[in-house]
Amino acid sequence: MQKIDVLVIGAGPAGTVAASYLRKQGYEVTILEKEKFPRFQIGESLLPCCMEHLTESGLREAIEAKHFQKKTGAAFMRGEKRCEFLFEEQFTNGWSYTWQVKRADFDLALAEATRAKGVSVNFECEVLSVDANRERQITEYRDAEGKIHQIESRFIIDSSGYGRVLPRLFDLSKPSSFTPRGAVFAHLEDNRRTETTSNNIFVHSFDNNRSWIWAIPFSDGSTSVGIVGDREKIEDMAANNGEKYKEFIRNFEDLNGRFEHSELKFEPRNILGYSVGVKTMFGDGFVLSGNSTEFLDPIFSSGVTFATASGLLSAKMTHKHLQGENVNWKTEYEDVVQNGINVFRSYVTGWYSGDFQSIVFAKHIDLEIKNQICSVLAGYVWDTTNPFVKKHDTILPTLAKVIKMKEAQEDQE
Ligand code: FAD
Repeated sequence: MQKIDVLVIGAGPAGTVAASYLRKQGYEVTILEKEKFPRFQIGESLLPCCMEHLTESGLREAIEAKHFQKKTGAAFMRGEKRCEFLFEEQFTNGWSYTWQVKRADFDLALAEATRAKGVSVNFECEVLSVDANRERQITEYRDAEGKIHQIESRFIIDSSGYGRVLPRLFDLSKPSSFTPRGAVFAHLEDNRRTETTSNNIFVHSFDNNRSWIWAIPFSDGSTSVGIVGDREKIEDMAANNGEKYKEFIRNFEDLNGRFEHSELKFEPRNILGYSVGVKTMFGDGFVLSGNSTEFLDPIFSSGVTFATASGLLSAKMTHKHLQGENVNWKTEYEDVVQNGINVFRSYVTGWYSGDFQSIVFAKHIDLEIKNQICSVLAGYVWDTTNPFVKKHDTILPTLAKVIKMKEAQEDQE
């Protein structure tokens, strides 16, 4: 049986960042990936904070070389209202740009760069079962020819994303507290970009803050357009090859005809009930990273950044563990990842309650406040010097209430 130091399950952003970092420390690392790359994946708009993780794992240069669409900010809209954030105007001293990517290309580039560093990246290898203890783990997987193999490791990082391999095998998943929602999306030709829509993501809130649309432009002139809403609404929009989705994005008034005559690059896809939690993020001989931990909601494009952040931290902790040092997985890993998730949880809650919109679409938004919110939107949710991070659970409802009272008073005068 083949023996290695670290087995990584999944070659998405979490897995490749983790594997590349560990390879840099001199370990023998193998990735088992179920699919053949390139493969479609959703999650196309990155946050500047992920540049830190790509840099530290040594993967950023390979991605820079691909010339993906640069993303320098994000615009939120509701009817006539509009609020644009630019990452160069933010509270935290962080990256002012990142990218918008077709994940088929981005993930392939990550996997190739990871392989070039000496990681064994194996496509079409599906992990079937894992027998784990603190010292060694035996993993069984099936290759492209259907042959079953076993591999022995000293540690496992589960980065299997929506596959949730170890949460499934070890019964670690727990339901999310969020309303079950879904999304229907496609890539469209987009030759009507204007200065107002720009090359950055725009997010359009409608249905009294219950639904929203994303438009994520790519460097090849096409754009990803998705609608997110309550499960029933999305099931309805996705039915009959996305008939209602197509009609909606062509005719929805607030899109100003941007996609009225656009051709779809593929039939609309959909994903339902994606929010899920986890009872624990670690156990004897393994740690979970990326979407195998908790996924909240796509609204603030935080998924890939959480994947790279937790991928990197899980690798650092694995390194420490394999060096024979004592790792407190709860405080040094799970609590750190969970703190970041909890900040975004407050913002996701604020989005669907409308508090976030009350703040960003206020008649007047204080520049300092805007810059502090901008850093959260850039993914810097571990910067506790930012009051919009530190007081994340109370600051949005409190501020929204003050703004609403002030505006009601002004209207009366
Ligand atoms: P993944 O990218 O899912 O990679 C996991 C890999 O593991 C896959 O390649 C899979 O094939 C492999 N795998 C699974 N099972 C097995 C197995 N048994 N054996 C071997 N390999 C296996 N995030 C953003 O940052 N920006 C966005 O704009 C955004 N939009 C989103 C829109 C929607 C509607 C949704 C639902 C999510 C969105 N996300 C977004 C979130 C994003 O999709 C995920 O957070 C991100 O892909 C997680 O990365 P990962 O590396 O953890 O997992």
